[in-house]
Amino acid sequence: MTTPIVVCGSGIAGAALVRVLHHHGLAKHCRILERAKYEDRQGHSLTLHDWAMDSLDSALGEKLDWKSATVDALLSPALRNPSSAPPDQSKLRLNRARLQDLLQAGWKDKVEHEKIVKTIETDADGVSVLLESGEKIRASVVIACDGVHSIVRRAFLPNLKHEILDVVMYSGQRLMSIEEAKPYMTSSTTSQTLRQNGRYAWYSFNNLEEGDTRLQWAYGRRPQNSKEDDPLWKPERTLEDAQKIPDALYTETDAFSKETSEPWHQLLQSIKPDKGDRIYNWLMRSMDPTQSKVHEDRVALLGDARHSIPLLVSEGGACHALVDGAKLGEALANALNKGDPLVDVLSSFESNSTQRWSDAHRTGREAGMALVDTDSKL
Ligand SMILES: Cc1cc2nc3c(=O)[nH]c(=O)nc-3n(C[C@H](O)[C@H](O)[C@H](O)COP(=O)(O)OP(=O)(O)OC[C@H]3O[C@@H](n4cnc5c(N)ncnc54)[C@H](O)[C@@H]3O)c2cc1C
Repeated sequence: MTTPIVVCGSGIAGAALVRVLHHHGLAKHCRILERAKYEDRQGHSLTLHDWAMDSLDSALGEKLDWKSATVDALLSPALRNPSSAPPDQSKLRLNRARLQDLLQAGWKDKVEHEKIVKTIETDADGVSVLLESGEKIRASVVIACDGVHSIVRRAFLPNLKHEILDVVMYSGQRLMSIEEAKPYMTSSTTSQTLRQNGRYAWYSFNNLEEGDTRLQWAYGRRPQNSKEDDPLWKPERTLEDAQKIPDALYTETDAFSKETSEPWHQLLQSIKPDKGDRIYNWLMRSMDPTQSKVHEDRVALLGDARHSIPLLVSEGGACHALVDGAKLGEALANALNKGDPLVDVLSSFESNSTQRWSDAHRTGREAGMALVDTDSKL
């Protein structure tokens, strides 16, 4: 049996797309394959701008309760921070797991968890989606929303490469009590940035709760002039090696802490090998969406799979993933209702989105480089 639409990945782009189909009573026409278990969905924080949220609201014809997904939504109203949901609502600071729950409300049970797409094969009549379990699913079209390391993209565009920006970046997550979190919270923000002496430091609360408060930090700078001698510069590292942290990071953040005042001093000097933090080397990836023909008749790439934008750039990947899902979801719903060919929808989606993607790539790349550029404004 051929399924009309197979969606690979139920992150932000995939969930936004299916939310629109669900809204129109059309989710029955798709299967949603998701690698992760429900309980393992990512819990970092991110900024969504009004134009991105408006795009999905407009495709749905209703306003979602975005504030229910802010980083401090679970705190009592008196303790909530004004900056995570400012009155003008031009942007919100959201928790990604709660955002996913908001997008999946009403159709969560349709997500097929632990279904890992291994590759796809297209032919004149359709697409075969092959799973790691050996299962094979036939589809009319495949919507690849499988993130920055997209398996689907690699299957039909193996030579497409990310640019790794010349930025050294490390990040860690720390669990703390709400009492321990207080020095890091100001009356106006749950997220702060420091740029000083060529160094970049940032922190943000992923989740603020009485019992379980999670702070994420990042530390970065430009690579040293002689890159080979820079122990923290690892642009070729594998995914598995992202958590192998050189001792030089601890020496460096400790030295930098002495040049800073609170709360940065406390944060930076407590970055230690034995602290129990989960620390990662982040590669600042950027993908030029115009570098090559990306469209295959029966396959569309959305979100980070199509146009990854460097991390820590606020008008970033999540905003565009949401818009991608909203726009393609709306177009697919129209085509399903009218009985129009789905392949035509994919090609117009690609051509209508290229300018937006290209602009996002340019501004995202500039903003990514500017994070560690002391002369530029954030
Ligand atoms: C710490 C951090 C902070 C960020 N802050 C911001 C911010 O402030 N603003 C902003 O706009 N963006 C931000 N981003 C970026 C944003 O999170 C991503 O751009 C966004 O999640 C991309 O959405 P997506 O749907 O394309 O991919 P994802 O959200 O990554 O979803 C991909 C999904 O596909 C699944 N998948 C992967 N491979 C397979 C497979 N083989 N088979 C089946 N399923 C698969 C994954 O499990 C995942 O659920 C941040 C990212 C991080 C990590």
